[in-house]
Amino acid sequence: MRLAALLTACALLAGCVADDPVVRFDAAQTVQATRDDRVAKPLFEAVTRPTEGGPAAFGGHSRGCAAGSVPLAETGPTWQAMRLSRNRFWGHPQMVDMVQDLSRAAVRAGWAGLYVGDLSLPRGGPVSGHASHQIGLDADVWLYPVERLNLTRAERESLSAVSMRRASGAYVNDRWTQAHMQVVKAAASDPRTTRIFIFPGAKVAMCDAETGDRSWLRKVRPWYGHHYHMHIRIACPRGARGCVDQDPPPPGDGCAEARQWQANILNPPPPDPNAPAPRPRRDLTMADLPGQCAAVLASPSR
Ligand SMILES: [Zn+2]
Repeated sequence: MRLAALLTACALLAGCVADDPVVRFDAAQTVQATRDDRVAKPLFEAVTRPTEGGPAAFGGHSRGCAAGSVPLAETGPTWQAMRLSRNRFWGHPQMVDMVQDLSRAAVRAGWAGLYVGDLSLPRGGPVSGHASHQIGLDADVWLYPVERLNLTRAERESLSAVSMRRASGAYVNDRWTQAHMQVVKAAASDPRTTRIFIFPGAKVAMCDAETGDRSWLRKVRPWYGHHYHMHIRIACPRGARGCVDQDPPPPGDGCAEARQWQANILNPPPPDPNAPAPRPRRDLTMADLPGQCAAVLASPSR
């Protein structure tokens, strides 16, 4: 409806450059100061509303920002957003749709729905506790067998997530069920999804349990942490200029790699004496982000 109105306005005015957020942000990029050493995270965390205009993702999942984000409703028929005080329930409309679709798959798996953790800040950008979640195309979904969807705001702040791992993530524990695998499989089978991050023991458990088509396992990637929730990453939406996709995962089901992770947890390899010292992670500055992100920060709120 809104798009139709916009298109009509464009036709009447013979051009709608000023109404096109992508064009507007692209124009801003060319006039942005070349050095902007402000640390980006506190700037993005301080903004409480998204920009006006249509959705756009600038940069990559771990280095970017987002315009025109929409909120995941705090409560839907098959989901509840958690930790509302963080104001991280914003995303690209495709991310929000994907989470809602997945919550219906969770019902088919026998749960009441999903508890949904962080998506992105209202304008994306760097956010505490995550390397990614910067362009509205990442979402954390709790690995929690949901039985009720009437949590109060206070309960959503305080309810403890439940870990699914044992042996430091080499294996799943006895809370892991068939339903978990069904939900992960549904998330990985969604064509919008490019990767699911989950602890190695869960991937190995699913590698062992899958007796049919294994193609969905390719998107399920073993990673550190991620035993209270899985992380869903979706692709840049079609036609999203300025959005940078990660390379696809290597071909195959990735099960051998997951088993290697598992083996390394159980029997850690000796440290490589020739390994370079780890570089301390530096806060991203505005100059590290795509130029559009300064305009995204400064843009009027919806
Ligand atoms: Zn995440």
